[in-house]
Amino acid sequence: MKLSWKQYDLQLKHIFRISRSARDIAPVTILELEHDGIVAYGEASPTKRYGESIETIDAFFRKLDFSSFDSPMMLEELLNYVDSIEMGNTSAKCAVDLALHDWVGKKLGVPLYELWGLDPAKTAKCSFTIAIDSKEVVEQKVREAEEFPILKVKVGLDNDEEMITTIRKITDKVLYVDANEGWKDKHVALEKIKWLKDQNVEFVEQPMPSDQFDDLQWLREKSPLPMIADESVLRLSEVPKLAQAFDGINIKLMKCTGLREAMRMIHTAQALKLKIMMGCMIETAVGISAGAHLAPLLDYADLDGNVLISNDPFDGVRNIKGELTLNNRPGLGVTLR
Ligand code: MG
Repeated sequence: MKLSWKQYDLQLKHIFRISRSARDIAPVTILELEHDGIVAYGEASPTKRYGESIETIDAFFRKLDFSSFDSPMMLEELLNYVDSIEMGNTSAKCAVDLALHDWVGKKLGVPLYELWGLDPAKTAKCSFTIAIDSKEVVEQKVREAEEFPILKVKVGLDNDEEMITTIRKITDKVLYVDANEGWKDKHVALEKIKWLKDQNVEFVEQPMPSDQFDDLQWLREKSPLPMIADESVLRLSEVPKLAQAFDGINIKLMKCTGLREAMRMIHTAQALKLKIMMGCMIETAVGISAGAHLAPLLDYADLDGNVLISNDPFDGVRNIKGELTLNNRPGLGVTLR
């Protein structure tokens, strides 16, 4: 098995501002796995919040030694080995997981959704993200997003009400709201959520910091809107405890190490009666397509990471008016443009 990787700087169409950061370029690493004449792709999109960067991804890939494995078909054992190398590094591990799944699908000649017995016509509707910005820019973004049926609005700085009222002057479509841990006081958070309830908001994502678990529990008991965990949940082992403080979880491949663990988290969430959302980082069609193969199992899809960029080097799942449209190519179904 031959591995190689390359960095791409993804150019955002607008500056992407959330409660803790702002940027206009998102660097990602594309991993290529070649074996038996088949080339497969994976992707790592690093997030500082989770201790990763392009450099940590590069260092992790250099530690990989697949010489004792005969084939990517040994996916389970390969991924156990990859996970055992070092703690963290979830997006680097995800790149390997995606490339292995892509290879297996290509070897068998089937798209991943088919391998899992999922109906590609039943993908959850995808939201489009409006990041924090001035009134004028938000107005422009909302008009640009006219074709998308659901908007996910970032809040958590000092202009929450302005963000929402600006959008509500233009459209009455369904809104998801994501505070990205921005509200630090539980009483303030509760007042915000009560106000949002009257603005036709469907749910609130990560209203408070993940290290304020008791406050989140308090808030959930009083919240008139469902609460979805994002920063509070990275991997499978954290899911059971979160059922005490949230109504659902936002699974991201880059946080959870990839498709294998995402599938386990989905099954666990189903058992705990948690709503299942899948989100993403700023990613190319490689990462987004991987998530989209699981979209028939989701309550909410927030897989718009490649719609927000202007230079996606890959073609894969298409987002047509918020409809995730998977193709019938094998594996992840992605090709280099
Ligand atoms: Mg979020």
